[in-house]
Amino acid sequence: MDVIVVGAGVGGLAVSRVLLAAGHRVRVFEQAPSRRTGGKAVLIWSNGNAILDDLGISLDGVGARIDRIDALSSRGRLRTTMNIAHAADRYGFPTKAIPRRHLLERLADGLPADMIQYGVACRGVTQDDERVTATLADGSTVIADLLIGADGHHSVVRRTLWGEGTVQPATFGTWQGLSPIAIDITDTTRHLMISGREGACGLMPAGKGLLQWWFDVRWAPTDPRPAAPLADLRRRFGHWVSPVPEVLAAASDDDLEFFGHHWNKVRPVWGEGRITLVGDAAHTMPPTLGQGANQTLEDAWVLGRELAEGGDLVERLRAYEKARYPHINLVSRLAKRNPANWRTPPMLARLFPETMQTAMLARFSNRLTAAAQGAAAAR
Ligand SMILES: Cc1cc2nc3c(=O)[nH]c(=O)nc-3n(C[C@H](O)[C@H](O)[C@H](O)COP(=O)(O)OP(=O)(O)OC[C@H]3O[C@@H](n4cnc5c(N)ncnc54)[C@H](O)[C@@H]3O)c2cc1C
Repeated sequence: MDVIVVGAGVGGLAVSRVLLAAGHRVRVFEQAPSRRTGGKAVLIWSNGNAILDDLGISLDGVGARIDRIDALSSRGRLRTTMNIAHAADRYGFPTKAIPRRHLLERLADGLPADMIQYGVACRGVTQDDERVTATLADGSTVIADLLIGADGHHSVVRRTLWGEGTVQPATFGTWQGLSPIAIDITDTTRHLMISGREGACGLMPAGKGLLQWWFDVRWAPTDPRPAAPLADLRRRFGHWVSPVPEVLAAASDDDLEFFGHHWNKVRPVWGEGRITLVGDAAHTMPPTLGQGANQTLEDAWVLGRELAEGGDLVERLRAYEKARYPHINLVSRLAKRNPANWRTPPMLARLFPETMQTAMLARFSNRLTAAAQGAAAAR
C-alpha cells in the first residue's frame, strides 16, 4: 500500500517502522523543520518497552531504569510504594525514564533518509472510496491508499474528522525540567511522587546524572503566565519535604517548560474510511499516568497487527480502533482523574499491594494482554 503519515513524533515514527517492515511505501510529512531534539524525559513502561523491542529498538545505554515509585505526603510521610521491578520480572522488560530526544533518535534510527519530509505541514485531508488526499501547506496535494494522522494534540486530521472543540483543558498544568541535579535519587532506580495541598511534585532519574523534575499546579487556559515562574514554584513548594527545596534551589528558569493538561473523550471509532489516527491525535490526556507515549506505541503495534491480517482495508482500520478502545479508554479515564495528585491516606494505601501496577499494565496494554493470552494458549 501507499501510505501517508502526518507527523513524525513518537506515533508517526513508530507506525512508519511497522508499515515499512510490512513492505508498504510510506511517506511522512512533518511540520517541524527537523527532528525534535528538546523535550524532557518520558517514562517508558514495560508495555512500551516490549513494543519497542518488537520494533527492533533497544533502550540499552539511554535513560534510567525505574524499579520503585514512592508516593509521599508534602511532609514526607510514605503514602504508597509501587514495586515496578515486579512488572519488569513478569513481562521481561523494565520501565525506563528516557529523555524524549533519545526515544525519537532510536525510533528514527535506520529509517530511509528521504522518507520524512520536514518543514511540510498538512492542512487538510479528503477521501473517496478509492483514495485519500492530503493537502500540504504550499497547496500541493499527495494521494495514497491510507492516511494516518499522527499529528498530536492539535491534530489537523482529527479536526477534519471530528470537527473543532473535542479536546478540552483539564484542571492542572505541569512545570517541568530535565537537568543535572545531584540529589540522592538521581543515580538510583527510585522515582518519587510527592503530593500536597499546593499540587504535586515528581522526581525521576533519567540517566547520565540527569534528573527529571516537575510540579503540577492548578491551571486554566485563561491564567496569565507568571512573570517569574521559578520564584512562584519556590514560594508554593519551597517548604515541602527534602529533596524538594534542594531541587528548587538547583533549578533555573531556563530549565522550565510548561504544559497545560488537555483531554478528549476517546471514541470507540476514531477514524473514517481510509483515514485513522494514532497517539495524541486520537487520545490526548494529562500526563498523570505517564502512559501517553506508551499508548501511542500500542496504537502502532495494533495497527500493524490488524493490517497484517489482510483483506478489506477499511474493515482492518476499524478493527484496529475497536481493539484499542477498551485499553486506551481505561487509561484515558484514569489519567483524567489525575492520580498524580491524589493524597491517598497511608492507612488506605496499605490495602493495595505494592505490585498492583503489574496487573494494571496488562489492563492498559494490548501487547501485554496478547502475550499473556499466547502463553496461556501454549500451556
Ligand atoms: C509534560 C508531559 C509529560 C509527559 N510524560 C510522559 C511520560 O512520562 N510517558 C509517556 O508515555 N508519555 C508522556 N507524555 C505524553 C507523550 O508525550 C505523548 O503522548 C506522545 O508524545 C504522543 O505522541 P504523538 O506522536 O501522538 O504526538 P507528538 O509526539 O506530539 O507528535 C506529533 C507530531 O506531529 C507534528 N504535526 C502536528 N501537526 C502537524 C501538521 N499539521 N502537519 C505535519 N506535522 C504535524 C508535530 O510537529 C509533531 O512532531 C507526556 C506529555 C507531556 C505534555
